[in-house]
Amino acid sequence: MAPISHVVDRCGRCSGRHEFHLVVEMSGQQVLTFAGPADDSADAGPAGQDWDVEFRCPETGKLFTDRVVLSTRPGARVLSVRSEPAGSAARPDWREAEVGEWIKSSAGTGRDFCRTMIGAGTAALPLYFAVLKLLGLESAHGGWRAATLGPPVLFLAATVVFVVALRPALRPIDVATVEAVREHRLRTMNRAITGGLVLFGMAMAHSLVLFLVLLWR
Ligand SMILES: [Zn+2]
Repeated sequence: MAPISHVVDRCGRCSGRHEFHLVVEMSGQQVLTFAGPADDSADAGPAGQDWDVEFRCPETGKLFTDRVVLSTRPGARVLSVRSEPAGSAARPDWREAEVGEWIKSSAGTGRDFCRTMIGAGTAALPLYFAVLKLLGLESAHGGWRAATLGPPVLFLAATVVFVVALRPALRPIDVATVEAVREHRLRTMNRAITGGLVLFGMAMAHSLVLFLVLLWR
């Protein structure tokens, strides 16, 4: 998260005015805005969290503590707040870049996985029938004949679920809604991926059991 500017109007050491950056670490909802000094706390809303932050006076080099109010989203919790002199070039936090990278790439990671699974599901069908033929089970009769249809149906169903997961969604989006839309999209995709994997796993298990049972019959 980018550092937040904070002005200490009256330094606890030299009574001067200093500017600082606050580096805030949050849990839960990772969006945070700064609500101003403690005397505005009445306006900060129920989600505001008081935090005693330790500052180093740039004039005297001594530490002092000042209370700030951080306005957080419901469910979010402040883990730590660190202050830095505003003048210093803010040291880039590698974790910030990492989080940005993950946020940007997560949808693509999900889509890549779906494509991989569509490939696997499609490849599994001819492979399944090839093994069936190899084992001489194509000519199975009665109940066995019906049982051999289970895996291909499951492989097909899994493939369809992964295709559905990839289906582009058309919806309006802007800065205010992007977070919720993105979350909804990723959760939907995650549900489809989980469902597809369950079907795929069932197809694999069904195939293996079927091959073994038919071989030892
Ligand atoms: Zn000072």
